[in-house]
Amino acid sequence: MSKISKERKATYYLGMGMGILGFILFISVFFSFSSAISDPDPFGGPPSFANAIVGMLLMIGGAVVASIGAKGAAGSGVILDPEQAREDLKPFNEARGGMINDVISNIDAIDHITKPQSTKEIVKIRCRNCNGLNDEDAKFCKSCGKEI
Ligand SMILES: [Zn+2]
Repeated sequence: MSKISKERKATYYLGMGMGILGFILFISVFFSFSSAISDPDPFGGPPSFANAIVGMLLMIGGAVVASIGAKGAAGSGVILDPEQAREDLKPFNEARGGMINDVISNIDAIDHITKPQSTKEIVKIRCRNCNGLNDEDAKFCKSCGKEI
């Protein structure tokens, strides 16, 4: 399992932070809009419009930065180096492969639930000697070895 470098993790979180900040800025426009009408901005012009644009740019920039962090500079196409890209995408592809494996094992699990192994009911019988449970076709007791 290849490791994602600290720098890339930091880049990824930076991108996430930028996106969240942008989202807050963008959303805040809708909350400040009503107050902007009744209470005009002393610096001139409604601040909401500029905030919305800055917020949107931050979200887009954040998404790009996060993507670079996740896939690496080459993997996300910033640096055109196929050799480096393969190396950068390795942990990413491994994670994706892991997810696909999870899905497959989940399908397997569902298969087990919807299709029981055997519809035949397993009947157990009790040993007359020790009271231990045995399969109905058992000749000798599993616990004490006496003949059933
Ligand atoms: Zn027994």
